[in-house]
Amino acid sequence: MEQETSSERGSALSAATPETKVGEIMTKNVLTAKPDTPVVEIVQLMAKQHITGLPVVDEENRLLGVVSESDIIGKAGDTVADIMTNGSWTVTEETRLGEAAEILLRRRIRRLPVVRGENELVGLVSRSDLINFFATHVWTCSWCGKGYRGFFAPSTCSDCGGETFTIKVPEAGG
Ligand SMILES: [Zn+2]
Repeated sequence: MEQETSSERGSALSAATPETKVGEIMTKNVLTAKPDTPVVEIVQLMAKQHITGLPVVDEENRLLGVVSESDIIGKAGDTVADIMTNGSWTVTEETRLGEAAEILLRRRIRRLPVVRGENELVGLVSRSDLINFFATHVWTCSWCGKGYRGFFAPSTCSDCGGETFTIKVPEAGG
C-alpha cells in the first residue's frame, strides 16, 4: 500500500490508543486569556493563530472558563470577563483518550482544558488531536483483516462478524 506521510508526527500521538492518557498527547503550551484582556485583543489573537477559542485563567493559571468565537459573536462587552463562558468541562492528565473523546463528541465541544490539582491549567486536548488519531489509526478485524477507521473499534465486523480487533498504525511502504 502506497501512502504519503507528509510530516513526521510525534511518536506519542502515533502510538496513541483510547487507553492512552491525555497527558501524553495534550498540547502543553496553551494560549490563554485573562478576564481583563480586551475582547479586541482576543479577536486579533484568534485570527492570527487560527484558533476558535481559548481557556481563561486567573493570575495563578487556574482555569476560570473559556472564551470562544460564539461568545464573541453572540455577546457584547469590552473585556473577556464580560463575554466568557464560566466553567468548563475538564479532564486531567490521567484521563484516558477514549474518555476525553467521548466528552468532546457527546458535548459537541472543540477543546477540553486539562487541569491538575486546584484547577491549574496544564494543557489542552482538542478535536484536531482526535482527527489526527482518526487519520493515523486503523482497527483491523482479527478474523478477516478488514480495516475500520474510527476512535473506537466496531462491535462486530460487517464482513465476517468478527468480534476482535487490533489497532494498527499504517506504515508508509509497509
Ligand atoms: Zn472481519
